[in-house]
Amino acid sequence: MADGRNARAESKPRILDVLLYALRYRCPNCHAGPIFKGRFNQVLIRCPNCGLAYFREPGYFVGGMILTYGFTVGVLILVYLLTPLMPTFGWISEATKYGLWIGFTLLLAVIFVRPAYALWLSLDYWLDPWQAPRQASKG
Ligand SMILES: [Zn+2]
Repeated sequence: MADGRNARAESKPRILDVLLYALRYRCPNCHAGPIFKGRFNQVLIRCPNCGLAYFREPGYFVGGMILTYGFTVGVLILVYLLTPLMPTFGWISEATKYGLWIGFTLLLAVIFVRPAYALWLSLDYWLDPWQAPRQASKG
């Protein structure tokens, strides 16, 4: 390990496995420790199982925020394109429709935070793995 990377870097997992572990919100290194704490999308500082730091650098999860935004906008565009197929709700005022769209957008953003952050962390770890401290102390 002269290049400073851990053993997983040499045996890179398949991208499909990376995505599956990410969507289970598990540590990209040991696949056992959780990424989030509690119900409210709070990312742990490090994996409670292997000690892998989840925050590589300040502002690390801006990429996760961008993914959240992308997923949200993607679903909004899809739903918007499908609206001509839906029945018209003439009895709902325009202001209420805008309110519903805003509420739908906020709901999507909250829903997509966990998958987006977990994907960001897992894909970054897959592309450029960093070392968990407990593995570093082993050898
Ligand atoms: Zn771990």
